[in-house]
Amino acid sequence: MDFTLPEEAVAIGESLIKFIDREVVPLEEAHRDLLGNERRLFTEDGRFAPEVLALRKTVRMRSAEEGFYTMFGSEALGGGGLGPIEAVYLQELINARYGPDRPLIQTFVIPSPFTNGLTPLLQWLQPETLDLYRDGIASGEKTLCFGLSEPDAGSDVFGMRSRAVRDGDDWVLTGTKQWITNAPYADYAMVFAVTDPDAAAARKGGITGFFLRTDQAGFSVPSTIPVMGHLGAEIGIIALEGVRVADSHRMGAVGEGLKVAMSGVNTGRLGMAGSCVGLARWALEAALDYAKTRKTFGKPIAEHQAIQLHLADCAMDIYAARSMVQNCAWQVATGKRAVKEISMVKAFSTEMLNRVMDRCIQVHGAMGLTNELRLEAGYRFARVMRIPDGTGEIQRRTIAQRLLAGDVDF
Ligand SMILES: Cc1cc2nc3c(=O)[nH]c(=O)nc-3n(C[C@H](O)[C@H](O)[C@H](O)COP(=O)(O)OP(=O)(O)OC[C@H]3O[C@@H](n4cnc5c(N)ncnc54)[C@H](O)[C@@H]3O)c2cc1C
Repeated sequence: MDFTLPEEAVAIGESLIKFIDREVVPLEEAHRDLLGNERRLFTEDGRFAPEVLALRKTVRMRSAEEGFYTMFGSEALGGGGLGPIEAVYLQELINARYGPDRPLIQTFVIPSPFTNGLTPLLQWLQPETLDLYRDGIASGEKTLCFGLSEPDAGSDVFGMRSRAVRDGDDWVLTGTKQWITNAPYADYAMVFAVTDPDAAAARKGGITGFFLRTDQAGFSVPSTIPVMGHLGAEIGIIALEGVRVADSHRMGAVGEGLKVAMSGVNTGRLGMAGSCVGLARWALEAALDYAKTRKTFGKPIAEHQAIQLHLADCAMDIYAARSMVQNCAWQVATGKRAVKEISMVKAFSTEMLNRVMDRCIQVHGAMGLTNELRLEAGYRFARVMRIPDGTGEIQRRTIAQRLLAGDVDF
């Protein structure tokens, strides 16, 4: 195992930071009144205001012109083909530098790992269908969402009730999707529906993936779902009311939708873990600075042992998570499936970030609770991350299943 970063990754990281500092940070600063005030950020119905969506599009398209937006897309899809080692490094880098709650940086300079941009899921489209949409997605002009979860199907996807029924050359889709990131704003949706109820009831497939345009008749997003104190949301509910989709827009084989859905999950979980390490480093740096300057009982709080313990515990957590993330990325890059390792990394790094944000808020006292320092935003973000892409319990279920099946290599 060699943890030396590829020179290319370091060079890309430097140009990425230059790009964000030169173009995105000034844009955020120029629109601080809009972006920093949730009453203006969202409209009454909890959707991002049109001006916010326009700014995000500008950032995506500029990032795409510079090659950053597509750098993790596979070469077969026309992306930069960067692998997991580069991905975790670059995610850590930008999160450590810019911290949480950056409405134009996170997921706009680099899209969400598998639900947007040149996601690995696009490989399942038939080539002629991909040709129709690829350029718009790669340029950042058009965005995607990934609709697997439903009111009765989260951890247990076989609870899915959405149905797709064949009708001539088309399929007709009916059902509800819930918690779907970017659904209120997406141009296209990758959705999954039961095509063989008996197979799905027996938990043996029976689910198929489809690629839809969100302006199609019968497709709507009746509401967003604000979570963790926000006034609006990135996530929403999708209603599918007899949406007609051509068989040419099927993703992968009939009945093999879960294979399609899971094909991006490794990328997603590793990318999320890299972000968690970066955000934890950002929070620890803030806590170190504050501990050196804030005085109580006649000395900087950094000299109180209780504060030192918080700082040291953060460092131990970050070091452990970072080592796991890097090792796992290396395993995936060298062709190992690393199923239990990816689950360990997802659960550990998201839970690590919760602990680190909590301790860093504690080190700041009341200051840590203010909106101004963004630690509380980081804390809310950290709490959210323990649910999507497989909860902590589901990751542990996967780890235990692998162990019990004899996968005891580390
Ligand atoms: C911010 C956010 C963004 C999301 N984005 C998307 C998206 O873009 N696309 C999408 O399809 N979905 C998305 N989701 C949905 C997400 O994947 C689900 O919320 C998640 O899989 C959990 O499902 P659930 O909420 O239905 O919880 P449930 O499955 O109902 O679980 C409830 C509790 O029971 C536990 N549990 C369930 N089964 C077991 C078991 N076998 N053993 C032990 N414990 C168990 C869970 O861990 C949890 O603690 C998003 C969710 C959030 C919060």
